[in-house]
Amino acid sequence: MNNSVALVTGGLGGIGSEISRKLSENGYTVVATTFNKDIEKADEWIAEQKTAGFEFIVEEADVTNFEACGKMVEHVEKTVGPIEVLVNCAGITRDSFLKNMDESNWDAVLSTNLDGVFNMTKSVLDFMLTRESGRIINISSVNGQRGQFGQTNYSAAKAGMHGFTMALSQEVARKGITVNSVSPGYIATNMVMAIDEEIRDNLISQIPMQRMGKPAEIANTVGFLASGDASYITGANIPVNGGLFTSF
Ligand code: NDP
Repeated sequence: MNNSVALVTGGLGGIGSEISRKLSENGYTVVATTFNKDIEKADEWIAEQKTAGFEFIVEEADVTNFEACGKMVEHVEKTVGPIEVLVNCAGITRDSFLKNMDESNWDAVLSTNLDGVFNMTKSVLDFMLTRESGRIINISSVNGQRGQFGQTNYSAAKAGMHGFTMALSQEVARKGITVNSVSPGYIATNMVMAIDEEIRDNLISQIPMQRMGKPAEIANTVGFLASGDASYITGANIPVNGGLFTSF
């Protein structure tokens, strides 16, 4: 048990739930955040996790809203404890070819997937700087590294997320804070299962490992980056994609 707090945005989602569980197993008190105002759904999730042996605190904030993020972070710091780990995992897709893309679908993806990272990180950073300790882990995507048909908005936001990671890592390295990204390939969550089956099968055929990843495979990487074993890693992007995209 390490008594520190890990805050996971999108913590009730497919990948976020698994990250929350991994960090809990590693001894963190985990605050999972949701945007959904459906209290019943959150209560159901808490009960499900409890049955599986996990205790979580759930807080609500829209990551696109800077003020709401700041208030939530202050509340967590006051009522739960010092946030040692921030995992920016909240994200959405609104796919279409650019030719057909509404401005609203561009704005929604950029404000959730990229502004959200700024809003949450900025809210947590002063606390981490004061304590000279912290881990910030941004869940990006393989499609931010290589681009993807129909995802100019998503690819731009996810690539931007890594630019943010590299720049911030340099600013805070001296203050004992590491900042890294994890770039998942295709992971079997609702976000990906919503893709038409034929397109999905085609995507899987392009993955050298010939399968989608499991949320736990992302969570294990996050668990490692949050741990003492990753103390000298900062400004890095860790791809977890079954060989779908390789680079150095
Ligand atoms: P889910 O849809 O299961 O989870 C996404 C989470 O984001 C939800 O829990 C949702 O919260 C939260 N969210 C969405 N909008 C907001 C908002 N405005 N404010 C706060 N929270 C918000 O998707 P995944 O688990 O699959 O994805 C998690 C992350 O991993 C995303 O960033 C995604 O881009 C990334 N990723 C996923 C891949 C995949 O193959 N699945 C591949 C590469 C990257 P709630 O519903 O509780 O309100």
